Amino acid sequence: MTPRRRPPGRLRATTYLVVGGAAAVAAYLTPEPPAPTRPVAEALVASPRVEEAPMAPVWRSRVDTLARGETLVSLLRRAGVSADHASRAAQEAGDLDLRRLRAGLTVTTSGMSTDTVPQEIAFQPAVDRVVKLRYLEGAWKAIEERLAWTTDTVAARGVIASSLYETLHTALGGTLPAAKRSELVWKLADLFEYRVDMSRDLQRGDSVGLLLERRVAPDGTAREARILAAALTVDGKPVEAIRFGTRGGVADFYDATGKSLKAAFLRAPLEFRRVSSAFGMRRHPILGILKAHRGTDYAASSGTPVRAIGEGTVIKAGWAGGYGNVLEIRHRNGYVSRYGHLRGFAKNVRPGRSVVIGQTVAFVGSTGLSTAPHLHFEVLVGGRQQDPRVALRDKSGWPIAPREKGAFTALRQRLLAQIDARGAGAPSLASAED
Ligand SMILES: [Zn+2]
Repeated sequence: MTPRRRPPGRLRATTYLVVGGAAAVAAYLTPEPPAPTRPVAEALVASPRVEEAPMAPVWRSRVDTLARGETLVSLLRRAGVSADHASRAAQEAGDLDLRRLRAGLTVTTSGMSTDTVPQEIAFQPAVDRVVKLRYLEGAWKAIEERLAWTTDTVAARGVIASSLYETLHTALGGTLPAAKRSELVWKLADLFEYRVDMSRDLQRGDSVGLLLERRVAPDGTAREARILAAALTVDGKPVEAIRFGTRGGVADFYDATGKSLKAAFLRAPLEFRRVSSAFGMRRHPILGILKAHRGTDYAASSGTPVRAIGEGTVIKAGWAGGYGNVLEIRHRNGYVSRYGHLRGFAKNVRPGRSVVIGQTVAFVGSTGLSTAPHLHFEVLVGGRQQDPRVALRDKSGWPIAPREKGAFTALRQRLLAQIDARGAGAPSLASAED
C-alpha cells in the first residue's frame, strides 16, 4: 500500500472510526494525537493488533468549544457522548442555573481510554466558577467549585501633561484593563463634580493621586476597582476625596476637612465624559469666536444631555435671539443658571416646572449665534453674570459628626500616606496587600 499524506484532522477522523468499530474503546475520546505524517494505511493495519493485545487503559481528555447557539447536550453529542448520557449529564448541570452558557466556553470530557461513558465533564462557566459533572456508579452528579477573589490596593500618581484621561491611563497602566481605566477616569470626575469642573479647572502641571481597591479574579485579572482616596491639585490647590463609612450609614466621600463632597450645585452642566476637551486640553478651535458673550462654552456633540446644575424652577425654555434655544433655571439665594444654543428641551421642561440637581433638562445643539454644537453656560447671581468658577465654589457639604471625626482623620492620614508612598510625578505604581 502506498502511504498517502492526509491533514491531521482527516487522519484523526479515520483512526477514530477504525478504533471505534474495532473494539469497545471510548468513542467520545480523541485518541492520542497521531503523528501528522503517519499514513492512514498504517493505522488501518495497526488496529487489529490493538484488538488482539489491548494496551493498558490510559486517562484521556478531549476539549470541545461551545459554538454560538449550541447547547451543552449538542456539544456532548459532538464529543461522542451518547444521547442518553448527554441529556442526563446536562440535566444535572441545569440544576446549577447554567442556562446561559456563553459561546466559546471550553468543555473537557475525560475518562479512561476503555470507558464507554466519560467519567468527568468539566467546564468553567464564570471566572470564579468551575463545574464538574461526574459519572459515578451509574449516576451523574454535578460538583461546583467556587474560586476565590482577592482584594488588594493600588496607588497611582501622575502629573497632568495633556489631560486627566491620559495621565490616569498611563499611571494606572497594567493594574487595570484599559476599559476599567477609562471608567475610573470618569468615576473620579463624577466624584468631584460638586467641587471641580475637570474640563476647565485642571491645568497642565496639576497632579492626581489615587488609592484604589481592586477585586482580582482567580485568574489574576483585576475586574473591579473602587476609589478609596483621591488627592488632586487643581490649578495648584489641593482637593481631596476620602471614602469614609459613617456609623450606620453608607460610605461616602469627604474632603480634607471632613465635609461631604456633595454640595448644592454641580460644577458643570455636562458630564465630564461628554465634553470634547475631556481627552485633551486644547481649546475647541471654532469656539474662540464665541467668546464675545460672557459665559462658559463646552464643546460637545449635538444631543448631549444637559444637566440642571442644582435644584430649582424653570423660568424660561424657548428662543432668545443669539442664544437660540435657551433654558433658565432659578435656584435658591438669587442664583439663575442659563443654558444656550440648545437643540431642544427635555420632556416636561417648561416654565414653572421644578427640576432636581443632575436632571437632564435639555440637549446640546447649535441654535442661535453658534457655528458648531456646544453648550453656552452662564451663572447669574442677583441678575448679574458671574464666573461659574467663583459662583459655584460651594464647599458647604454636610460635615462628619464630631464623634466620628477622629476615625475619619486617622483613616485619611493612612490612605494619603499610601498615595504619598508612590514617587511623585513619575507614573509609578505598585500593588500592596492591604
Ligand atoms: Zn458661549
